[in-house]
Amino acid sequence: MISVETFQTIQQASSAMTGNTAYLGGGTLLMRTLNYGEQDFEKIIRSTDNNLKTINDAGDRVIIGAGVTMAQVIAESSLAFLAPVARSVGGPAIRNMATVGGNLFAQHPYGDFTVALLAFDGIVKMDNGSEHDLEQFLSSRDNISGIVSSVSISKPNGQDFKYKKVSRVKPKGISVMSIAAWLPVSAGRPSNVRIAFGAMGTTPLRSKSAEKALEGVSIDASGILPALQALAQDFSPPDDAIASGWYRAQVAPVHLRRLLLGEVEA
Ligand SMILES: Cc1cc2nc3c(=O)[nH]c(=O)nc-3n(C[C@H](O)[C@H](O)[C@H](O)COP(=O)(O)OP(=O)(O)OC[C@H]3O[C@@H](n4cnc5c(N)ncnc54)[C@H](O)[C@@H]3O)c2cc1C
Repeated sequence: MISVETFQTIQQASSAMTGNTAYLGGGTLLMRTLNYGEQDFEKIIRSTDNNLKTINDAGDRVIIGAGVTMAQVIAESSLAFLAPVARSVGGPAIRNMATVGGNLFAQHPYGDFTVALLAFDGIVKMDNGSEHDLEQFLSSRDNISGIVSSVSISKPNGQDFKYKKVSRVKPKGISVMSIAAWLPVSAGRPSNVRIAFGAMGTTPLRSKSAEKALEGVSIDASGILPALQALAQDFSPPDDAIASGWYRAQVAPVHLRRLLLGEVEA
């Protein structure tokens, strides 16, 4: 028998996370596990704390509550740069439920929204106030206990963010891969570039080799070529029902080139 307990504050919910418990975000993944009888928990904890649903401007960063849904992101004018990313997650019913916090834990090949958070230098805040660089958080997320309260990200300036989700079923299939590229410009050249990929590993990952190769180059076919060639150093993608790892590795440079150069797919 599974029990569900609802708490008004995140602190109360956090105190109840003892023993075999699971935290419920939007439930799009957790309830599926439950309905398949695959759960290893006996109690579900949820919280109606308004702070989880809040989006706060913090100067050059924005703090997004872990309980903010994809639909909320799309409706929020200050997060217009993330709207295409949120729109790429599932269909309307999923987007009404799916949360930012839950997306951090979504298993390969899901996690499209987290790919953008990674490109924007995400910092994860936990219920106990501790903060974790998103890249490190993802590498150890299976061992993380507690509730994520928010994720803070850098805000892009103008048109320096590009996102693309590659899927076999249009327009809303599961990711062959997703790519988020943040290319701030300094003196007319890319500087402090961040490139993140989804579905190219067991969690969303940065391509640090491609990032390095894009520093200061001209964003044209020859300028980005070393970055495309560098991608292979960073990824060893898994096979799944959507695509083999070999296929993903072969097409990743093609999709990064199309994204960076704004090429329209045939
Ligand atoms: C039909 C379908 C289509 C989908 N399409 C996509 C897609 O295109 N792209 C994509 O990325 N995903 C997709 N998903 C997966 C999923 O909907 C999203 O990843 C969603 O963001 C998960 O969030 P959630 O709030 O529903 O998570 P939940 O199901 O509530 O939770 C998932 C996991 O995260 C943990 N968790 C949730 N919130 C917190 C928190 N605040 N602190 C700590 N742990 C937490 C839960 O305990 C659980 O282990 C799809 C799912 C379905 C069923």
